[in-house]
Amino acid sequence: MQLRIPGPTPCPEEVLQAQTRQMINHRGKEFGDLLQRVTGQLKRCFQTEGDVLILTASGTGAMEAAVVNTLSPSDRVLSVSVGVFGDRFADIAEQFGAEVKRLRFENGSAADPDTVRRTIKAESPFKAMLVTHNETSTGLTNDLASLSAVAKEFDLLLLVDGISSVGSIDLPVDRWQCDVVVTASQKGWMTPPGLAMVSVSQKAWKAHEQAKMPRFYWDFGKAKRFLEEKSETPWTPAVSTFYALGVALNMVERETLPNIFARHARVAKAARDGVKSLGLSIFPDEAFASNTITAVRAPEKGDVKELLRILREEHKVVLAGGQRELDGKIFRIGHLGLVTEADMAEVMSALKTTLPRVAA
Ligand SMILES: *Cc1c(COP(=O)(O)O)cnc(C)c1O
Repeated sequence: MQLRIPGPTPCPEEVLQAQTRQMINHRGKEFGDLLQRVTGQLKRCFQTEGDVLILTASGTGAMEAAVVNTLSPSDRVLSVSVGVFGDRFADIAEQFGAEVKRLRFENGSAADPDTVRRTIKAESPFKAMLVTHNETSTGLTNDLASLSAVAKEFDLLLLVDGISSVGSIDLPVDRWQCDVVVTASQKGWMTPPGLAMVSVSQKAWKAHEQAKMPRFYWDFGKAKRFLEEKSETPWTPAVSTFYALGVALNMVERETLPNIFARHARVAKAARDGVKSLGLSIFPDEAFASNTITAVRAPEKGDVKELLRILREEHKVVLAGGQRELDGKIFRIGHLGLVTEADMAEVMSALKTTLPRVAA
């Protein structure tokens, strides 16, 4: 099967095997050693000297954690959104009482740093900026380095959804001065769902001291204290997913980050070249096309849902449709984590035989 959706993504056999291990005491030494080892490996993947915490959650839980650990109700927050997941970040902040100014770029367009700067100038002061690094709903990677530079001109706290980028697309957390960056195990990490990982900067810790939004399960302070003082998580962790992540991160270290980024870039180029050679076009501004997910405009003739059905049922190629207003207008090919150019060739060959059938 070719499970080519943007998460959960396929896992290597060794990673799946690790999950079948018997439980251990999550407050014992063996788990503590695993937690410390995995945390160290993640810090290298996030390219940070700051803290990395591991939460038992999906990515959205970590987005909520980023908000409630750094903000207070009525804080003014700039949401820079280019799609469904950017909108979700804003919704979370709003739900917890932040005063959110939404700067929404059109689906398929990247966030423009100059527009962001103008908005901040016109509407300041803001306490924080929320931004998506890789917008999975439109298949686009924002220029986070430039967006961060704008946020830092105004000394804003920068909260980043890197759920579908960290570990697959270069995101040097410290160099780009990102204060909180979140990701999740089922995306580029070749690991089943269950864990979310977050980096926390010094500036984010200062914000944490002041932040008044309600938090209990998500409290970064408790997580840091438990990690440092006892090598534990505050609450029962997803132990099996920890086993799996431990194996996956060893594989990441063997391949090395630069090689992983390069592989994702090659596979993404193969995906874009492949769909274009079949007469289809890339949905987002191609200058910002993502290396972990390719969003393709639906063929002019034929129903995209029928296309995805035949691919799934007859070729065992599972692709994703569009979300919300893009439903029926695009389809998406996930290529993050365990993926090679040979996988992409299989996807293209299935598309090539299926496209004429739905156009007929
Ligand atoms: C998958 C994804 C999410 C949501 O993560 P869940 O693990 O489903 O909660 C949020 N943001 C981005 C960019 C994603 O790709």
